[in-house]
Amino acid sequence: MTETILAPKHPTVFLDRDGVINVDVGYPHRIEMFSFIPGAPEAIKLLNASGYQVIVVSNQSGVARGLFSEEAVRIFNQHITQRLAPFGARIDAFYFCPYHPDAVVERYRIDHHERKPRPGMIERAARERNLDLTRSFLIGDHATDIQAATAAGIPGYLFKGDNLFSFLKRIIPMSSSACVIFHD
Ligand SMILES: [Mg+2]
Repeated sequence: MTETILAPKHPTVFLDRDGVINVDVGYPHRIEMFSFIPGAPEAIKLLNASGYQVIVVSNQSGVARGLFSEEAVRIFNQHITQRLAPFGARIDAFYFCPYHPDAVVERYRIDHHERKPRPGMIERAARERNLDLTRSFLIGDHATDIQAATAAGIPGYLFKGDNLFSFLKRIIPMSSSACVIFHD
């Protein structure tokens, strides 16, 4: 007789990247183009301390458009990790979708199931990282982010770019069964 031991699943906050963590200057991809959205490091630190996995889910169609490479996306993401470290804040994983149906670069010309507003990126992260979608939510700055969350069966909150920490403190009581401690 075999016994299966199930590891506990992680409550998770999915964050869009551009316009939520960093200022969206239009396809940001070089580190000179990086600056934090106000309150973003503090928000991510609060999520870490509250027991959430923090997972970035980002469409990066600039790759398909021939503006930059997948490697440039990874370098930009590493830079975010490095800039968060002094705050004691951590992103657990980055997912991105480089595809677009009208891509200039042929190998990226796919109407891909992971491109938001579709839920594929969220669903793959949930499978790969043992995430508990019943205790998860998403923050994004476009309707397509919210549509992807809805399609994945989780709440989505539309952030309009003022202060991510203030925004998070307003929405987290509505979303969470994780232990949340507020610091003011
Ligand atoms: Mg965005």
